[in-house]
Amino acid sequence: MVDNGTLSIDETVNKLRGTFKSQKTKRYEWRKAQLQAMLRMMQENEDEFKESVATELWKPKLEVKMTEISTIEKSIKCALKNLKSWMKPVPVSTEITHFPSTAKIINEPLGVVLVFGAWNFPLNLCLVPLVDALAAGNCVVVKPSELAPKASATVKKLLDMYLDPEAFAVIEGGADVAEELLKRKFDHIFYTGSERVGRIIYEAAAKQLTPVTLELGGKSPAFIDESANFETTARRLLFGKHINSGQICIAADYALVTKEAMEPLRAALLDAYHQFYPKGEAAKDETTHLVHQRHTDRLLAMLNEDEKVRGELVIGGQYDRESNWIAPTVFYNTKPEAKIMQEEIFGPLLPVLPVEDLDEALQFISDRPHPLAAYIFSTNRSAIDSFSFAVSTGAVVVNHVILHFSIETLPFGGVGSSGIGRYHGKSGFETFSNGKAFLHKSARKVFDLDIVYPPVTERKAKI
Ligand code: NAD
Repeated sequence: MVDNGTLSIDETVNKLRGTFKSQKTKRYEWRKAQLQAMLRMMQENEDEFKESVATELWKPKLEVKMTEISTIEKSIKCALKNLKSWMKPVPVSTEITHFPSTAKIINEPLGVVLVFGAWNFPLNLCLVPLVDALAAGNCVVVKPSELAPKASATVKKLLDMYLDPEAFAVIEGGADVAEELLKRKFDHIFYTGSERVGRIIYEAAAKQLTPVTLELGGKSPAFIDESANFETTARRLLFGKHINSGQICIAADYALVTKEAMEPLRAALLDAYHQFYPKGEAAKDETTHLVHQRHTDRLLAMLNEDEKVRGELVIGGQYDRESNWIAPTVFYNTKPEAKIMQEEIFGPLLPVLPVEDLDEALQFISDRPHPLAAYIFSTNRSAIDSFSFAVSTGAVVVNHVILHFSIETLPFGGVGSSGIGRYHGKSGFETFSNGKAFLHKSARKVFDLDIVYPPVTERKAKI
């Protein structure tokens, strides 16, 4: 048995189950109070949150503010603003044969749910699903990533201070704790992390017949054609490799560039690089470091592969293995068989592969697993339409990367091996809700259709 402070996992889950059965978490006032408390927690402890991530993961504080604090606050505010309307039963029409009756969909909470966070945004990936789960009226167990222990401890300490202790628990620990948790029955499991562990979670959930949301990763492509605005394209592509050092599930993993666009893009990338890093190269203290040596070594093996396969180094290439740092780096003319094209990069490297045209790019993308996001940089309306029509992906973004994550009105999630299910905003509320069908039929016998009731007479049998 794993000890969670004073209570074991079983005792914790049982306590939350008791709370859920009491019905208190279903009430609007309770949900609103939890969300308000979370917002206060974020506002009153911003420095502590920032410190916990910035020092541990070597992230610039501005980045923590942008990618963690602000997005969490935005999602709380969105839930607070819309909660009443989300909770309202949704009336639906019925058929004439059911006259007179009324029907509606009542969104009720699922019960006790389990949320696994990942290290790359150790606050956001725990707290945004928590917002959605609380807004939907659930009791929640949160298991932050063990790879960001400071952030995990801060999340635990502060949630313990602000939220209703009867309705949630933060259980810290590594894979051993995760495995223990997975032996218990939950009403939903929400997991963010790698595809490999996603499969473990899915298998464990199947044993308990527990529904899952799996927020996984994969190789998200960017297609760039000759009609693109090269200046903004280059800035935005580089931004995606700069921010969190590309350790983002929806970073553009590789770029497919039409042959005509290759040279203008190269010039624009060099310009953007010099604008971003005026001293000539990225500085170690201006960019996030990589999470650990194993991850650094995996990326260095890609970076140090033979140039003939890896491609020409156009930008960056500097690194410091000791401090797990690699500069934003771009390779040109990478071969599809290069190491860097075999798995999700999840780092600051960007391989660029030339293609003849959009059709070749679409073929390349469709030959591979469905990506979590797909990006197109173009001003050609018909190319944009064809791309968004053809690519099966969690999201299509035109002329930028990553931004869709921060838009609460857009559902966020993958398809195929990039994930199952959606969250953020109303989608998150629905993920953590059971849409219960409700039908109210008049009690008066006059409205009974005689034909459906026995006995089956000869006349009825002929109909
Ligand atoms: P991680 O190592 O932090 O693991 C994620 C969670 O899985 C943690 O809570 C961890 O404790 C748990 N875990 C690890 N091993 C386990 C096991 N054997 N059994 C059960 N649980 C276990 O994160 P990671 O996996 O390195 O994350 C990187 C991956 O996550 C990348 O593929 C990335 O694309 C993906 N990701 C996806 C999203 C998204 O929103 N779709 C966001 C961030 C990261």
